[in-house]
Amino acid sequence: MKIAILTSGGDAPGMNVAIRAAVRYGIKKGHEIYGVYSGYVGLIKGDFVKLDHKRMSGIISMGGTFLKTARLEEFKDAKFQEKAVENLKKKGIEGLIVIGGDGSYRGALALHNLGVKVVTIPGTIDNDIYGTDYTLGFHTALDTIVSAMDKLRDTSVSHQRCSIIEVMGRNCGDLALYAAISGGAEILVTPEHKLSKEDIIASLTQYKKEDRTHAIVVVTEHQMDVFEFAKEITEKSKFTSVATILGYVQRGGSPSAQDRILGTRMGAYAIDLFDQKISGVAIGIENDRLVYLPIGVVINNKRPVNPLYKLVTEVS
Ligand code: ATP
Repeated sequence: MKIAILTSGGDAPGMNVAIRAAVRYGIKKGHEIYGVYSGYVGLIKGDFVKLDHKRMSGIISMGGTFLKTARLEEFKDAKFQEKAVENLKKKGIEGLIVIGGDGSYRGALALHNLGVKVVTIPGTIDNDIYGTDYTLGFHTALDTIVSAMDKLRDTSVSHQRCSIIEVMGRNCGDLALYAAISGGAEILVTPEHKLSKEDIIASLTQYKKEDRTHAIVVVTEHQMDVFEFAKEITEKSKFTSVATILGYVQRGGSPSAQDRILGTRMGAYAIDLFDQKISGVAIGIENDRLVYLPIGVVINNKRPVNPLYKLVTEVS
């Protein structure tokens, strides 16, 4: 069978690992594997490249995605989706592996509904996809955040300051939550765990009274203007505060061992699913076992609130 593979939406460490596994294992299982450049953009342009074992050499440790990624609003339009199907048919490609986030899954479902055999792999640092404990890239981004937090703590301790650290995650607080636990933060603010500014200031005022010399507040992006809030904390709690937005540094870097294992397992599993004539599904990992669910179920459900939230307050 001819199978194409693409990466779409935000890049995530581990995408290359999943491509490598699907290509090498797929070829061993007798398939022809094609890469599509720049996600759905390449699909509508017919920008395909045949991939072989050698081309995968050395990419296991590379961050980003060598196939490039893109966002293409027009792909919501049926006309562009039909063009993509036409290009796949012209090449005789029957199967498609889409590595991306929630939006990319919607495009994948549209193609599935038009008769393409699609399997998706959750590739996003945000960990915001239903039906999987972890997305590809999450653990690498988490390691990057924790390493930055350790550095920021040094300055926070030396200057006896409060450090506010904004991390990515969109509408999912998992990156902030896991970072808060791993980095020993005192206060956590996420979309699932909102705290009023007054409550945060009250806690920090109390910490100051207890003679705590420093504090770390981790905040998911889009929750507040952290620079303004740092000024407000400094004025009202007497805890001098400085904000740092970690930004795109969280998206890059060599994938962690955990993401390399996850990407390899998911990439190979996609091939196994095609061989079992299963498609229209999204791969996940639950309790360390690979699972799959219909793509429609995955995009129409929200992840349950993480039970680890309790821990942050228990150990702060
Ligand atoms: P990340 O979570 O890292 O941002 P993502 O896959 O959610 O990744 P999006 O920008 O939301 O990123 O989506 C990627 C692409 O998927 C879009 O640019 C578009 O081409 C396609 N897409 C998104 N929504 C739809 C939809 N409803 N129908 C068809 N295609 C879609």
